[in-house]
Amino acid sequence: VLTTFADLHPTTRFEVLTNGRLFHDRDLATALLTGLPPRVWWMIPLYGHADFLHDYVVQTEGAFDQTIDGLLTLHEHGQSVQLRIVLIEPTLRILPELCTFIGKNLPFVRQVALMGCEPTGFALANRSVCEVNVLDWQESLTQAVQRLVRAGIPTALMNLPLCALPESLHPFAHRSISDWKRVYATACQGCRLQDDCCGLFASHKRGWEPAPLRAITEEATL
Ligand code: SF4
Repeated sequence: VLTTFADLHPTTRFEVLTNGRLFHDRDLATALLTGLPPRVWWMIPLYGHADFLHDYVVQTEGAFDQTIDGLLTLHEHGQSVQLRIVLIEPTLRILPELCTFIGKNLPFVRQVALMGCEPTGFALANRSVCEVNVLDWQESLTQAVQRLVRAGIPTALMNLPLCALPESLHPFAHRSISDWKRVYATACQGCRLQDDCCGLFASHKRGWEPAPLRAITEEATL
């Protein structure tokens, strides 16, 4: 399928969301990756720097070992990888340590994305661990970004409103929520950062806001 896409769209970059675990099978990886144009980004979640942490979040024993093995195989094949860390309570608790682990063991990744959780699907079903107030985790987020930057790994903050981040992290924040999913709240009226801010997932109405929002005006600065 990927080769057909690549042939039909010779200048398009492809982003594949996958847990990456099947790449631990080296024969399968070689069959799949050999000859693949270098226009594919593999987007792979990592939720911890030890098996019991990652396996708990994905609820599958052995997933961490397979994921790490898969990441190393992708590197051997010269593939581009974006690591995705969704910011739920179990990952936020160990986020700086996880970023140190990535810097030491997976420094080849093209980017690490630290992502606010979309309140939908399994996140809604597991609200007690997925609903966080990002303002409570500013120190952890700052340390995590600093450790990735120190390791020379490009870092992106996604799905996080600017008023929920310290100003020092604003340069890392992306307007990542697709426009068909993005909304702004009543509290955003008059906010001078709106054009640069990702806003909120429309689904927050059935779930939660990532933090209490606060319009940034000329009078009310961060
Ligand atoms: S008030 Fe709204 S627009 Fe302004 S930074 Fe917060 S979420 Fe973004």
